[in-house]
Amino acid sequence: VAKSRRNEYVTDPTTSRRMSAVRPIDTTPEKRLRRILTDMGTRYRLHGYRLPGRPDVVFPGRKKVIFVHGCYWHRHHGCSRATTPVRNRSLWNQKFEATVLRDRRNAELLEGSGWHSLVIWECQLDALDDVRARLAAFLAEE
Ligand SMILES: [Zn+2]
Repeated sequence: VAKSRRNEYVTDPTTSRRMSAVRPIDTTPEKRLRRILTDMGTRYRLHGYRLPGRPDVVFPGRKKVIFVHGCYWHRHHGCSRATTPVRNRSLWNQKFEATVLRDRRNAELLEGSGWHSLVIWECQLDALDDVRARLAAFLAEE
């Protein structure tokens, strides 16, 4: 009985519909950034797996990388999306702090080996003209 229930659960169309509704794949911040860069006519590579912090977008020739940071996990300073859960507050703060420290360390490692990095915050993707201007300026830098 347990087995058939499990199978039922796995193939339940309601569940899979609900799960796909939680996070539509083409609206992740990473995909939105890529769409913007493609529209700008830039050529980039995805995921610098060998680079510190695995940047979301890599321009190998120019030694430039871009990160898209979620405001919540990466703690966008002063942003309304960077909330802290009420329960287990100190535990959450430790987790958040570890993420922020890791981001900083990765940025230093990249800089130390001659890479320029840019962070685009998730919420900034809503202001399309601004984000385009920032990306253009970053890519034009020598
Ligand atoms: Zn934000």
